Amino acid sequence: MRPTLLNPLFRPVTSLDGIGEKLGQALRRLLGGVDADAVPRVGDLLFHLPVAIIDRSRQPGIALSPAGAIVTLHVRVDRHQRPPPGNRRVPYKVFAHDETGEISLTFFHANPDWLAKSFPVGETLYVSGKMEWFGGRPSMVHPDHVVSEADFAAMPLIEPVYPLTAGLSGKVLIRTIREALASVPALPEWLDPALTAREKWPDFAAALNAAHHPAKPIDLEPTSPQLSRLAYDELLASQLALSILRHRQRKAVGAARIGDGRLKEKILAALPFTLTGSQVEALAEIDADLAKPERMLRLLQGDVGSGKTVVALLAAASVIESGAQAAIMAPTELLVRQHARTIAPLADAAGMRIAVLTGRERGREREETIAGLASGEIDLVVGTHAIFQAGVEFRDLGLVVVDEQHRFGVHQRFALTSKGKATDVLVMTATPIPRTLVLTYYGDMDVSRLTEKPAGRRPIETRVLPLSRLDEVVARVREAVGRDAKAYWICPLVEESEVLDVSAAEDRYKALVKALGPIVGLAHGQMKPAERDKQMAAFQAGMFKVLVATTVVEVGVDVPDATIIVIEHAERFGLAQLHQLRGRVGRSDRASVCLLLYKAPLGAVATDRLRIMRETEDGFVIAEEDLRLRGGGEILGTRQSGMPGFRIANIEMHAPLMEIARDDAQLIVDRDPDLAGERGEALRLLLYIFGRDEAVRLLRAG
Ligand code: ADP
Ligand code: MG
Repeated sequence: MRPTLLNPLFRPVTSLDGIGEKLGQALRRLLGGVDADAVPRVGDLLFHLPVAIIDRSRQPGIALSPAGAIVTLHVRVDRHQRPPPGNRRVPYKVFAHDETGEISLTFFHANPDWLAKSFPVGETLYVSGKMEWFGGRPSMVHPDHVVSEADFAAMPLIEPVYPLTAGLSGKVLIRTIREALASVPALPEWLDPALTAREKWPDFAAALNAAHHPAKPIDLEPTSPQLSRLAYDELLASQLALSILRHRQRKAVGAARIGDGRLKEKILAALPFTLTGSQVEALAEIDADLAKPERMLRLLQGDVGSGKTVVALLAAASVIESGAQAAIMAPTELLVRQHARTIAPLADAAGMRIAVLTGRERGREREETIAGLASGEIDLVVGTHAIFQAGVEFRDLGLVVVDEQHRFGVHQRFALTSKGKATDVLVMTATPIPRTLVLTYYGDMDVSRLTEKPAGRRPIETRVLPLSRLDEVVARVREAVGRDAKAYWICPLVEESEVLDVSAAEDRYKALVKALGPIVGLAHGQMKPAERDKQMAAFQAGMFKVLVATTVVEVGVDVPDATIIVIEHAERFGLAQLHQLRGRVGRSDRASVCLLLYKAPLGAVATDRLRIMRETEDGFVIAEEDLRLRGGGEILGTRQSGMPGFRIANIEMHAPLMEIARDDAQLIVDRDPDLAGERGEALRLLLYIFGRDEAVRLLRAG
């Protein structure tokens, strides 16, 4: 149960003054959040921080106020000029003056009663807003603030500017945030006092307050004391959650699994290639982990095509040699089938018994697999998350390999090991994650990296062309398939409309069938999975030479003799995605080409992305560049996986804090693994505030 102390932060925003159904919806649009349908909480609102300030402190006088400047004027009201009745287009004007000149305060569609009351003739007032000059006459259209002389002190001379959304004004948002701030409870300090003293950080409530009351532009910098403090809180919450997870998983005693090498030897003999140095090294690290009596929790990072599958299989073989079972899990049906196809002949050669388990296996086959897993007759199962459904039991599940981890949420990680008593976990990802982000999202794991490409791979020639040269591209594809090459043709996914995309892909498909003949297949996200798999399988088998596809081919598909990839509207893709797509080719010893077609004119960021694609094939370099261009937010496809993003911490700006947070979290868990002490209690609050309370549940699970 969440401590009641935090209730004020977890109230819905609609409990705040003046926020009804309609403004509540505007706030939901504005704040988004993990659960898009839920009403945001007061805490969500408090983490919506200003991005700029308006400075109203300039008071130059009417005649000396430059056009476009935000100024505050001290004026005397002279007369009202009402629009002619019935003509709504003519504005209502209030004329006023100061010692330097006269100004018209201009209102469109205004309520005359309100204006008469707010601007009594003869009264002296302060007005603040944007100065405009029309044909030599000064005016201010809809001043932001109007106050009497007596109330001048109440006028905010420095005002924060927040990102807004339709139906929500800055004024209402500021007022609402002020009310929310006033309700922040006093909380015990969870940070190490030595750290807050050294960094001169305010406490949590004071930091929030300061973040919403910037006085100078420098207060908006991510490195200001208040924003650093809040970012650190957020980073510490995430690192602490990962540390707790790691601690729990390690504490659950593992088993020492030592293979004798008999299966591995046979698999290696059956492979048509020798392992790369990176593969050998990664396997040695994995085998060492398996042999230890603790649980393994390891991330295998390797660029597309670096050969992760065979590493997974050999790891599974070690575990099976020791007498246990293994599972390899992939995010889609298609990838499961592909893995099974690669693995089956090798497993056969070694005498390992394997089975496939996805949502599609039903009836007898499924029952047999389930029985085989329970009895231990099956050594290795390859499947989707169907493996972890209720009713599936293992005799002794020693290893789970999770492929393409970024499609699985962090919270699912813990569930993976629940089918075995001491299951080791190997997570594989093709997303080349920069070091800072590895720490952020996988701080609980040890990391192995496949940095070498298999021998004999040729560099991919990448060319960038405008869409106007489409005919040339089609000719090039025709010529290549004439030489027995295979080509992917990727059509983009426009987020707003999957239907439009599909129709674009279908049009392209028809055009290519016309141009090239019946050698073209089509696969897109709106097809039934079975139909889509059939198209891809036909392409794999060579019945089609060209596959028109939306990004469904992005992850993991392996067709080694595909040597051309055309990406239409390349400017619409992110760098990481372009890199993943390009990785579909260049998987054999034949020369490969990637043609990036863009629609002119290109924006600056898109130009940069395409340039980087042309310049390098190194996934890690691309990931770093991607981080630079995007600022770190979406690199892991956080939206698909529901992996919690960061609201305040900026991965680039706060990288040094990240390191401190990791060490801090480690130390906390070493000293007080149950968060039972005084600081531990306070840290639990932190976990709740930043939505990492799953970790608290783990603590309770013991
Ligand atoms: P990924 O890391 O993207 O999952 P895969 O495991 O699908 O890569 O491997 C890509 C291709 O490279 C496959 O066709 C695989 O058989 C081949 N491969 C893997 N290791 C080697 C190696 N050491 N030498 C040559 N080819 C290899
Ligand atoms: Mg793979």
